[in-house]
Amino acid sequence: MLWSYKHFQYKIEIIPDNPNPDSLRDNIVYVVGSKNYIKWGYMKCPCGCGDTIMLSLNEKAYPSWSIKQDKIGRATISPSVNKLDGCKSHFFIRKGKLIWATFNDY
Ligand SMILES: [Zn+2]
Repeated sequence: MLWSYKHFQYKIEIIPDNPNPDSLRDNIVYVVGSKNYIKWGYMKCPCGCGDTIMLSLNEKAYPSWSIKQDKIGRATISPSVNKLDGCKSHFFIRKGKLIWATFNDY
């Protein structure tokens, strides 16, 4: 049970510097910065293509995203993540759950 819980929940990890793309783990949304100052979010593309997805968390930039975690550490990313190159994955992460957007959205 513990395994499946871990496997299906996206969690947030706050790190001080940009991560090495080779060291990114599945099911973790990496936030670069500190609790008071965050710049970038990183995650491995959930489709398995191996690409690293970078999300700007700077409110003044466009596009930008917000990454939040709830009391038990589950990640929520808003708005959805829409990869414009490569695999063109489009998905939501809500309360740690990965939700694929339908292809009708294109
Ligand atoms: Zn992908």
